[in-house]
Amino acid sequence: MAQQIIIQQEPQQLQIAIVEDGRLAEYYLEQDNAAPAIGSIYRGTVERVMPGMQAAFVDIGWERSAYLALEDIVLADNTIRPNIADLLKAGQSLTVQIKKEAVDAKGPKLTTELSLQGRSMVLLPGKYQVNISKKITDTQRRKELKAMADGILLRESQEIPLGVIIRTAAKDCTLEELEQEFLWLYIQWTDMLNRIRQVQKPGLIAADQHMVARIVRNCAHENELQGIYVNDSALYESLQQQIPERSLRFKLHLREENLLEQFQLEGAIRTIHKRRVHLPSGAELVIDSTEAMNIIDVNTASFTGRQNMETTIVETNLEAAKEAAHQIRLRNLSGIILIDFIDMKDQNNQDLVLQTLQNAFKRDRVKTNVHGISHLGLVEVTRQRTRAPLSDVMEQECDVCHGRGRIEKQNPVVR
Ligand SMILES: [Zn+2]
Repeated sequence: MAQQIIIQQEPQQLQIAIVEDGRLAEYYLEQDNAAPAIGSIYRGTVERVMPGMQAAFVDIGWERSAYLALEDIVLADNTIRPNIADLLKAGQSLTVQIKKEAVDAKGPKLTTELSLQGRSMVLLPGKYQVNISKKITDTQRRKELKAMADGILLRESQEIPLGVIIRTAAKDCTLEELEQEFLWLYIQWTDMLNRIRQVQKPGLIAADQHMVARIVRNCAHENELQGIYVNDSALYESLQQQIPERSLRFKLHLREENLLEQFQLEGAIRTIHKRRVHLPSGAELVIDSTEAMNIIDVNTASFTGRQNMETTIVETNLEAAKEAAHQIRLRNLSGIILIDFIDMKDQNNQDLVLQTLQNAFKRDRVKTNVHGISHLGLVEVTRQRTRAPLSDVMEQECDVCHGRGRIEKQNPVVR
């Protein structure tokens, strides 16, 4: 599989497209007036403390209140979990980070544990700690990494203590590489600290400016990545700094033109929110999302001939399973997803379709589970909620029907 990442930066918006074998596989859109993005840091004011729920509503200067649960409040060491009413008071000001983006009517979820993501480490301001990824299993190597991290952290005494998580990517890092990465995160943190002191009203302190680097970093381990194309020279330079040279198995290209047009992705982007997806066989998927769940219906094409009906059905379902996984990843659908495949009598065929669906999700970095077929013949899938679905980013509710999708008939007036 050949992969490319296309990054198109414009004054009001940033678009990132991940292309696999010439096809749009993932799409990210960030606009200036956007809803709070995961990783962004805000100044907040406590609006209401709810002891019954052990949570509080926090005004972060956005149209909807954000939600802070007791478990997401960092406490000093050895503190027994108190009542939230002892920790927060209405009107209190605090610095928070977006942990989960707003979904439907729910506001964003906050944490007071700030973290700055790097490639091989995560910087955790507030508490001295060194945690090492469990995926690094070699005991000797863990000791070495712990000693290196302690050395880096203890070098200078900080006004606010700092901690780090050593990520799996640090497995083969030298001390110098870890120091460089620490320095890069530390500079970001001190910049942020200055802004935290300046911003008094609820509002954005630091956007997640490193979304681009994070997406790139997540893909950079894959041997399939052939190139990253950037249209903006400032972003190009910042990416060169953010991604350590040795991980650049692919090429970073600067091309100052409309890359989405050049890679012929505009058509695919426009169809992201279409309800019907046509399959080469003539069958189609119909995708509907409600607040509670997403439903994907598989519709048959008109069958040619009556022979081997079950074979035709299985072939259509296999095609639909692959496309459903593709659409789920592309649209970033999350939570409960029900897929209504065409009914199959044979248990083996059912298993084959489930297995194909499972395999098709392997490229998806977001955690997805295929739970099997329910009594009514629906395939149940759950996908972790991280970023908001693309429909939230790209669409707004219709003023005429208020999201119902139907309007009153223009009947003659009955007198
Ligand atoms: Zn409408």
